[in-house]
Amino acid sequence: MDNSSQNWLHENFTHTGSAFGLRIKRKLEEVQSPFQKIEMYESTDWGNVMLIDGAMMVTTRDNFFYHEMMAHAPLFTHPNPKNVVIIGGGDCGTLREVLRHPGVVTAVQCDIDEQVTRMAEKYFPELCESNNDPRATVMFDDGIAYMQNAPAGSIDVIIVDSTDPVGPAEGLFNQAFYENCLKALRPDGLLVQQSESPLALMHLILEMRNAMRDAGFKDFRVLPFPQPCYPTGWWSCLIASKQSRDLASFRKADAAAKSFETNYYTADVHQGALAMPPLIERALKD
Ligand code: SAM
Repeated sequence: MDNSSQNWLHENFTHTGSAFGLRIKRKLEEVQSPFQKIEMYESTDWGNVMLIDGAMMVTTRDNFFYHEMMAHAPLFTHPNPKNVVIIGGGDCGTLREVLRHPGVVTAVQCDIDEQVTRMAEKYFPELCESNNDPRATVMFDDGIAYMQNAPAGSIDVIIVDSTDPVGPAEGLFNQAFYENCLKALRPDGLLVQQSESPLALMHLILEMRNAMRDAGFKDFRVLPFPQPCYPTGWWSCLIASKQSRDLASFRKADAAAKSFETNYYTADVHQGALAMPPLIERALKD
């Protein structure tokens, strides 16, 4: 086992008493934006690595788990998604997946920090390959303000692809923000948000679900999935519906017949993610 520290990058997760490490070739760049510190490294085996304020965000090797589940699970759950808004998502990987859906007419990505996207363009060009799609709008603003000003009933799916609920992202995890999301959604609209690790932060998932319910959302579903470079390696997204509906039901035939390649998401993987582990079911039971 090569534990020589000089060429390893470790992220220590204080709230789980665990860590994740990658063997590193070199540091590529570091930028201090008005909002956060963004670091880029080249690893020996996982491609490039982006950290924001010391937290691993994206690696070339494993980002597909997250981007595919955050995009395809909600879009195949919605009956006919045309207008999608991504809050955060500055690495542009979620936007790329959303735009694979031919029925999507507009996809807006609103990230507070332009520097994240500029760094992604340099070191993750493959994630930015759809940024010039005529349906895409890549803009830079606080997602809280974006939702405050979004016209009522104008969006089919809102994807909150933000950093952890601290710093600039803190305001994306509360009832006031969810109330603005609810207003901006059409009646059959869906909100999906990255909801951290069920193993380490189940209480946060419960708090998010309760705040969304207090904001007026009707039904909820937690979809767990692997995400190796995130704390514990077991991640999740939380889907909420504006009107009452069965979120265990999705356009399975459409997902099975999808016209695009994926590395992780399939109709069967989606079906599997709907099988609720008792750990999550117990925690979410009122
Ligand atoms: N997959 C990552 C995760 O689960 O932690 C998130 C990736 S993406 C890089 C996170 C983005 O959220 C960052 O680019 C950050 O700038 C953005 N962000 C944080 N707070 C925000 C806010 N209030 N409005 C818009 N974007 C925000």
